[in-house]
Amino acid sequence: MATKKKDQAPEKSKGELLKESLCMTKKYSYDIMTEEQIKECYDYCEGYKEFLDKAKTERESVTYAVEYLEAHGFKPFEYGKKYKKGDKFYLNNRGKAIYIVVVGKKSFEEGVHIAAAHVDTSRIDLKQNPLYEDNNLAFFKTHYYGGIKKYQWVTLPLALHGVIMKADGTKVEVCIGEDESDPIFYITDLLPHLGKDQAGKPLYNAFSGEDLNILCGSRPFADDKVGEKIKLNVLALLNEKYGITEEDFLSSELTLVPVSKARDVGFDRSLIGAYGHDDRVCAYPILTAIADVAGKNEHTSVTIFADKEETGSDTNTGMTSFAFEDMLKEMCINAGQNPRKMFANSKCLSADVNAGFDPNFAGVYEARNSAFLNKGVCVTKFTGGGGKGGTNDAHAEFVSYVRNLFNDAGVIWQMGELGKVDQGGGGTVAKILAKLNIDVIDVGVPVLSMHAPVEVVAKTDIWSSYNAFVAFFKD
Ligand code: MN
Ligand code: MN
Repeated sequence: MATKKKDQAPEKSKGELLKESLCMTKKYSYDIMTEEQIKECYDYCEGYKEFLDKAKTERESVTYAVEYLEAHGFKPFEYGKKYKKGDKFYLNNRGKAIYIVVVGKKSFEEGVHIAAAHVDTSRIDLKQNPLYEDNNLAFFKTHYYGGIKKYQWVTLPLALHGVIMKADGTKVEVCIGEDESDPIFYITDLLPHLGKDQAGKPLYNAFSGEDLNILCGSRPFADDKVGEKIKLNVLALLNEKYGITEEDFLSSELTLVPVSKARDVGFDRSLIGAYGHDDRVCAYPILTAIADVAGKNEHTSVTIFADKEETGSDTNTGMTSFAFEDMLKEMCINAGQNPRKMFANSKCLSADVNAGFDPNFAGVYEARNSAFLNKGVCVTKFTGGGGKGGTNDAHAEFVSYVRNLFNDAGVIWQMGELGKVDQGGGGTVAKILAKLNIDVIDVGVPVLSMHAPVEVVAKTDIWSSYNAFVAFFKD
């Protein structure tokens, strides 16, 4: 037996070799990525953080997208136009949803490649008649939007975003609370000293929807002849700033979101804490990917920013609207091609977040089939709940396509489902797009504390998702 050289790796045993060839191991991104890739990833995330701070609502996300697209040579969609290879356009659906297209080398009938994220986020909306006064304090009544845990939204600095349509039909854009010098808004909570009854309640009914009233003033209008002087003073200030009256609230969409900016989390800055990762953490990668791939795409690439996902995808800006389908049909028919054939050959990555495994709540996850932070973009074969109800279930053949696409492109990815069977469930726009006779699968970033005012994601997973969508659009 020859003596081993010092630098020679020890020979692998039969079992070790067999394990290597048969068993699946999913490594952490940091075990795979080079230093240069990590730097590239962290740099990319700086752009993402800027997007998060500028775009906290669906309207602001669409505004951001339009500016970004115009700067990258995209033009508004035109009905009746015959689009050709290399054309780049977008359809702005009422400022709340947007559909973005880059025409590829192949015909439309050979199928288009769609990535769909949503840009609405759970939050607190104002009611249509919101302003009132109670014991010399002014408040707004609210109606929460999407699946929030109400207790997380009290005693939190909030900013007011949205639009008010005035009596003359002009639109006022509102954004108060984001600038350091702005006032903020606030929902009160009970002091612990008097919280005995509240502390005994289950979390889900410790606060009711009608309890989430926004504190917005306490100084009276200086005139002893009128009542409700605090409310009047708030109205006077709003009239001075925006020229609005109380009735203008009826035709407004005003919403409260956390004031906080996106920040790195942890000593190593490997995570990002921010409001609205769900689903901007997928929206940003599919926006940047479609712009970056333009000119190199085989099939026509399509990016969707959908509205109303958090409330069930209804309304004409939600994914159940015909707006998106109509645009694609129009594009296809104007080119003298068959839209049914186009849909039948199309592929879609439904880009939405999944629950990242949280060791602090390990009991609700099934670790063998969960997504982990820093293990790459998560592919979810099926969504829904219970016995796979209310699902989009991607066929094994389509999973195979995605698997090979990502592996060939060196995309770091993992497969995961939402949590333990019978623990709950959820779904997104995938099943709606599947109705168009398109192959659809969920692909997105794992997130901690989903739907909380501040959610957490890992930077390497954002980068992996960008790489995944680039590979998909190039194909
Ligand atoms: Mn989502
Ligand atoms: Mn959500």
